Amino acid sequence: MADGLLIIGSSQAGVSLATSLRALGHDEPITLLGDENHRPYQRPALSKEWLQGEITNEKLMFRTQEYWAEHRIDVVKNERIIRIDKNDDGSGVAHSMSGADFPFDRLALAVGARARRLLLDGVDLPGVLYLRNADDALELKARVPGVREAVVIGGGFIGLEAAASLARMGRSVTLIEAAPRLVPRAVGEQTSAHLLAHHRAAGLDILLGASVRRIVPRGDRVGGVELADGRVISADLVLVGVGVIPNTELAESIGLVCDNGIRVDESALASDGVTVAVGDCANLPNPVPGAPEGDRVRFESVNNAIE
Ligand SMILES: Cc1cc2nc3c(=O)[nH]c(=O)nc-3n(C[C@H](O)[C@H](O)[C@H](O)COP(=O)(O)OP(=O)(O)OC[C@H]3O[C@@H](n4cnc5c(N)ncnc54)[C@H](O)[C@@H]3O)c2cc1C
Repeated sequence: MADGLLIIGSSQAGVSLATSLRALGHDEPITLLGDENHRPYQRPALSKEWLQGEITNEKLMFRTQEYWAEHRIDVVKNERIIRIDKNDDGSGVAHSMSGADFPFDRLALAVGARARRLLLDGVDLPGVLYLRNADDALELKARVPGVREAVVIGGGFIGLEAAASLARMGRSVTLIEAAPRLVPRAVGEQTSAHLLAHHRAAGLDILLGASVRRIVPRGDRVGGVELADGRVISADLVLVGVGVIPNTELAESIGLVCDNGIRVDESALASDGVTVAVGDCANLPNPVPGAPEGDRVRFESVNNAIE
């Protein structure tokens, strides 16, 4: 029997690939495999409606169990692929940390990105959190009732969204951004200025151009954040949102060219001409009309993962 397509990563990009292939009439077996112990779910609400308790867990899920069964998409949870043996024709076997093997005729990498970690004193204290996946979000939500003051490090989309949510949930929130404006990588100056005015009016204390020296303890847990100028901002929760790093290790291990993501062509084919890479992990030719010849980008967005 054919082994079919193995998609590693069962989030936005992996789910879109599997469901689109079925919609286009692709009939071969599809395995949609991920290392999280949850049914495939959507991340955007984790920092917004879900965190604020406005929607249920079920609303986060992609598709129903019935959909996966009816469309013969084998959804595999909790399997972390640590090694891949790949042949020149694109077939091979993926090996999981659990010892299970997943043979494939064709491989797609939809392995996404992980939260960039801060390398500062105090980052390992209890109460210093990141927000990339459902487990991170569950931990954050569970801690909120015991939090009076929160500090969010990083004024990109995720830090700003989480800070706004925590403020709406009645917490006193200070957001620290090293750049002179909010969301500096993704939006222009006017939008940054609008976001700053809006969120300050909504009660967020926003410090721009501020850098963090260390996280300070209070007893055996987090107690605050010390800035480079010596100020200490008291906190019983610190959320770090300082960007993501694309998960390229598996791709590199099978010899695919990587450079800020897995390099793909306009058809999402990696450098071996047969493995597909999609979503946050992929570095693609800039599709924006008028982009300079040879320009490449790596997007971190739902739209890009779907497209
Ligand atoms: C809190 C939050 C809010 C967001 N809000 C928005 C928003 O409002 N709008 C927007 O456009 N975007 C938003 N994003 C970004 C968006 O969620 C991502 O761009 C999107 O999830 C990318 O999808 P992906 O499938 O490429 O990667 P990911 O979502 O990162 O999924 C990759 C999956 O692969 C798994 N994986 C990795 N390595 C392995 C391995 N070796 N073996 C098995 N599994 C593996 C990972 O655990 C993960 O489940 C948000 C992200 C977060 C975290």
